[in-house]
Amino acid sequence: MSHDKNKDWAFATRAVRVGQVRTNEGEQSEPIFPTSSYVFKNAAEAAARFSGEKPGNIYSRFTNPTVRTFEERLAALEGGEKCVATASGMSAILATCMALLKAGDHIVASRAIFGTTVVLFQNYLARFGVATTFVPLTDYAAWEAAITPNTKLLFLETPSNPLTETADIARLAELAHARECLLVVDNCFCTPALQQPFKLGTDIVIHSATKYLDGQGRCVGGAVVGDAERVGKEVFGFLRTAGPTMSPFNAWVFLKGLETLNLRMQAHSTNALALAKWLENQPGVTRVYYPGLASHPQHALAKRQQSGFGGIVAFDLDGGKEAAWKLIDATRLISITANLGDTKTTITHPATTTHGRLTPEQRAEAGIGDGLVRVSVGLEDVEDIKKDLARGLGAAA
Ligand SMILES: *Cc1c(COP(=O)(O)O)cnc(C)c1O
Repeated sequence: MSHDKNKDWAFATRAVRVGQVRTNEGEQSEPIFPTSSYVFKNAAEAAARFSGEKPGNIYSRFTNPTVRTFEERLAALEGGEKCVATASGMSAILATCMALLKAGDHIVASRAIFGTTVVLFQNYLARFGVATTFVPLTDYAAWEAAITPNTKLLFLETPSNPLTETADIARLAELAHARECLLVVDNCFCTPALQQPFKLGTDIVIHSATKYLDGQGRCVGGAVVGDAERVGKEVFGFLRTAGPTMSPFNAWVFLKGLETLNLRMQAHSTNALALAKWLENQPGVTRVYYPGLASHPQHALAKRQQSGFGGIVAFDLDGGKEAAWKLIDATRLISITANLGDTKTTITHPATTTHGRLTPEQRAEAGIGDGLVRVSVGLEDVEDIKKDLARGLGAAA
């Protein structure tokens, strides 16, 4: 299947069709190849595959047809040259850092990134001589001031979790390139269905496929997308060597997820906007965080940069932790879990879960109040989600 042909296809078509390889059985759905290795016709062919003279599969730590189909499809959706699939979102971030950084290098990262990414940077990369400076996501002067001659990567998520702060990707890409750094965007919250970071100058896109790419809470996986040299060679080289590989079964589940990604992200956005607007008018709710609301500080930017506002809504409750826990415990439909990006709506209390490792001062600085509740809005009928939260709000009052 030629890549030129893929480029002509619209997003929805790419999501369903790119990368499919049919075997002689003529199957309609993509085949799963649960094999660790591959058989060569003869010794000469084995040698040619190993030397790279001849393309073809060798060993499933780094070549598997089902995984490759997923990689080609996600690359085509993001508009990147190459994709390397990984065992998890965290191993996608680790592989990127291991492939592109060395001792003495420096990262500037948004303060509002996934907690485990902070732990990876602060507790592990630091041990190998890679330092990280954390800055407020939307303080562009702070980003600029934090860059040193050793800085190699600027790293961010937008919108942020859980407060949905939105950063100007094009502006940060320009800053990164002016200082000879790469811009890495974790596009987990929007997915390529709602936000296309490469079009805004981003160099590398990271995914936790566990979230919306799967979209149904089944498998853990991740991906790195970018150019042929950095991702196709460097990140792939690390994966081949260290082996945080995506399994073929998981790749197949994610492929099925990609086929409905566009529809799901639009539906998540529609439900979330309706819920956010409703929450703004509920007694006891002092503030709602959602980029689709006119009251959101970066509403205009989100409107320009995204083609939908996503499924994550957060709100502050009067009454602090006690009220938040009462609300959460009174829900019956919504799942109490810190996971997100599922067809099923989930609810969490960031101050005592995802952000529980921070000190109270760090939480205050990050804007994570004791009364903050985060909802990952699923695909149930929004009226049922409202009813469940109304019961919670009643219990909290
Ligand atoms: C979940 C998540 C990750 C980590 O992905 P795993 O698949 O859990 O390893 C990274 N970034 C963001 C924004 C996430 O939400």
